Amino acid sequence: MLEITKENIEKATAKARIAKPLVKVIEFRRYSVTNRETGATYEVRFTKIGNQKFGECTCPATKICYHISSCLPINAVLASQMIQTA
Ligand SMILES: [Zn+2]
Repeated sequence: MLEITKENIEKATAKARIAKPLVKVIEFRRYSVTNRETGATYEVRFTKIGNQKFGECTCPATKICYHISSCLPINAVLASQMIQTA
């Protein structure tokens, strides 16, 4: 589980803009991310502990990867909808 910071997510987001992976929602805070070129699919999960956000991915990366950053905008939308309907 890796802490998501503004700095590490900015780097990963730059890579996601180039790679443009396909993101599918499995459930809130759980996503499937597919590389369009290789077809490789990884699972991304988010956890929130207090005010800190954490992400994890099943790919071999040891840092916040672009799979995680690709899911963040969708996760933010889902989170805001859940607050409104709660
Ligand atoms: Zn990854």
